[in-house]
Amino acid sequence: MIVCKMIADASRISLEAKENGAKTGFIPTMGALHDGHISLIRQSKADGYFTICSIFVNPTQFNNLADFEKYPSTLSQDINKLEASGCDLLFLPSRDEIYPLGFEAPHYDLGFLETILEGKYRQGHFQGVCMVVDRLLQIIQPYKLYLGQKDYQQCMVIERLLEITHSKTKIEVCDTLREPGGLAMSSRNLRLSDQQRKQAGQLWKELRHLKENLHKGSLVPQLNNATAALQKAGFEVDYFSVADARSLKPVTNWNGQSKIVALTAAFLGDVRLIDNLILN
Ligand code: AMP
Repeated sequence: MIVCKMIADASRISLEAKENGAKTGFIPTMGALHDGHISLIRQSKADGYFTICSIFVNPTQFNNLADFEKYPSTLSQDINKLEASGCDLLFLPSRDEIYPLGFEAPHYDLGFLETILEGKYRQGHFQGVCMVVDRLLQIIQPYKLYLGQKDYQQCMVIERLLEITHSKTKIEVCDTLREPGGLAMSSRNLRLSDQQRKQAGQLWKELRHLKENLHKGSLVPQLNNATAALQKAGFEVDYFSVADARSLKPVTNWNGQSKIVALTAAFLGDVRLIDNLILN
């Protein structure tokens, strides 16, 4: 695996791969890599692409400074995992490389997507996500971008970004990898105590319970019950909601037909966890 830190090198190596007839698959990450990240690398490799991973803890997407400062970093293990997965290029830019002096932050028109769920609870988060992904896409210009369904709303935001920027890059959304108890793998799980890790499985249980008991009509009692159960299990719940799976418009009264997704975000101590499940 080639490791580079400079934009000029990352662009050149990506371009050379294309000139040699390869398609490029790109997996942007913030590091502290787990099997969920690695599954995206493996998917790109299985598709036969020259596979590029970036690790950059993007300061502009953190709405909470403490969360940014406490973000886990496990670089040498990350490099070993990427080598083992067959990743071809690791791009490790510095903050100054991505946001040089005088960099002017663009504004992305994300419309309604920015005002709901994660957008509502993490002001400015998706502008920061778009800023870094836009920058990385210009550098790498990949054929395909691999994203995790774990960040459901983020996938929709990035789809919108590709529309706004008239990008030719395609998106593939990959399944969420989970711990044996159902907890969605996340770099932030490293910050959970053993006890909290056990409690955290409750998020997945409540999503499953909703799916298994889904019925046409008002979903409000079920959503309230799920929120109460999570609170009882020690979570501070930002939201436990159901939305249209394509538009993300809230659904509180289900017609029994439209494709819907349940999404949740909740704190255990100072660790914020998110998860989602397509319900039908
Ligand atoms: P992050 O490092 O958290 O920014 O995530 C980088 C990419 O990995 C994003 O596209 C995430 O959606 C994806 N990802 C994170 N966790 C998982 C998981 N448990 N399963 C699959 N993909 C994931």
